[in-house]
Amino acid sequence: MLKAIYPGSFDPVTYGHLDIIRRSCKIVDELVVGVLNNNAKMPLFSVEERVKMLKEVTKDLNNVAIAPFGGLLVEFARETGAALIIRGLRAITDFEYELQMSQTNHKLEPGVETMFLTTSIEYSYLSSTTVKEIAAFGGDISQFVPEVIGKELKEKMKAKRSV
Ligand code: ADP
Repeated sequence: MLKAIYPGSFDPVTYGHLDIIRRSCKIVDELVVGVLNNNAKMPLFSVEERVKMLKEVTKDLNNVAIAPFGGLLVEFARETGAALIIRGLRAITDFEYELQMSQTNHKLEPGVETMFLTTSIEYSYLSSTTVKEIAAFGGDISQFVPEVIGKELKEKMKAKRSV
């Protein structure tokens, strides 16, 4: 049985992430989406909120689980019993960092491989950061995130403005 983890911040999940999740779960038997609990990155949504949103938008997929994690990625892979880490590559700018990470992780844990899926062209420009920027200025984000995520983003922005 092939089990994989797909780690990231998912702050919040976009159609680009969902595309990688859907394609990955056709390749592997079980996919665990690992939601990074790292306050140093100053996420807009708490890890609990990000996990909840991911659960909502993947509820139609029967071989996907969502779990928070902190600390070393290879440690999370060991704990989960995953032999594979999946990452998405959008552009050449992602490449150098991802290469370094995958080689480091392989040194730390030779039993775990990293596999890259290249983005679908229609999502190659898409990132959580740009979605948050557009939402902050009240722009239309319906092409970038599922409706429920758009609603959560609007509420979060409203709450932030009233602080
Ligand atoms: P991180 O902080 O780990 O980069 P992200 O949540 O931004 O976390 O991304 C998680 C993973 O999803 C990364 O491998 C990233 O390259 C990939 N990813 C993000 N956006 C897209 C997209 N539009 N198309 C394909 N892959 C993407």
